[in-house]
Amino acid sequence: MKKYFALLLAGMMALSLAACGGSSAPASSEPAAETEAAEPAAEAEGTEAEAPAADAAEAPAADAEIKVVEAGKLHMATNAAFPPYEMISDNGGFEGIDVEIATAIAQKLGLELVVDDMEFGSVITSVQGGKSDIAMAGLTVTEERKQNVDFTESYATGVQVIIVPEGSDIKTVDDLANDKMIGVQDGTTGYIYCSDTVENGGYGEDHVTSYPNGAMAIEALKGGKVDAVVIDNEPAKAFVAANEGLKILDTEYIVENYAIGISKENPALRDAVDAALKELIADGTVKTIVDKYINAGE
Ligand code: GLN
Repeated sequence: MKKYFALLLAGMMALSLAACGGSSAPASSEPAAETEAAEPAAEAEGTEAEAPAADAAEAPAADAEIKVVEAGKLHMATNAAFPPYEMISDNGGFEGIDVEIATAIAQKLGLELVVDDMEFGSVITSVQGGKSDIAMAGLTVTEERKQNVDFTESYATGVQVIIVPEGSDIKTVDDLANDKMIGVQDGTTGYIYCSDTVENGGYGEDHVTSYPNGAMAIEALKGGKVDAVVIDNEPAKAFVAANEGLKILDTEYIVENYAIGISKENPALRDAVDAALKELIADGTVKTIVDKYINAGE
């Protein structure tokens, strides 16, 4: 995996540089959208139905043509077992970084957020098939996924890490090659890296077991069905904190960029969501949301 990660590094770095470049020069072509940034409705938690009227009146003409799956709603395809990006709250609702950012984007567009919870492996097809409007699931931008959906600006980064039981004989990434079984979430970049051929730096399909979500992969690790779990760093931290006897290995990390996936057949929605996201990055809302979940408890 080390070798493979090193090969990927160049591509990922290019992506990450591109994303940085984009965020340091925000919304240059969208002057009309800038004026909405000061709107007070930003604190509302999806219950404000009045704000949209004002939004629509001031919105650029293109907003009028935005097609959504259900009138007045913004459907977000996600897998709500990926803390702290998306998870089920104590009261049975949805919460997390992605959920809050999507709520803020929906508000800017005069829409109400609806979370469509599904397996991670379905979030892109749900958007492609016109069942959901946006895929937002700690979703890493990859060249292959770009063939299937358009991506917005990146709003967060992640890295793949390795979780093992304390006392495991897996001490480094190289030890994963010693006939180990690796648990991953189905369809994720962790799965893609690990299941690749040995020549390409992976471990081969036979050494990888896929689970519908991270929580199930962790259960398999605790039950001894797999020797390690490869997953994004922030969920890894959350799972290790919530489960005794697990630890995250120190490895060489490659930065992946998370962005929102939108159907290639809906460029108006893509542009509107991208413009709203850029405003939320520029005015510090995204950082505030990320800090609330990631830095607050540290
Ligand atoms: N970032 C990883 C990917 O996009 C995992 C995302 C997830 O499991 N929700 O493949």
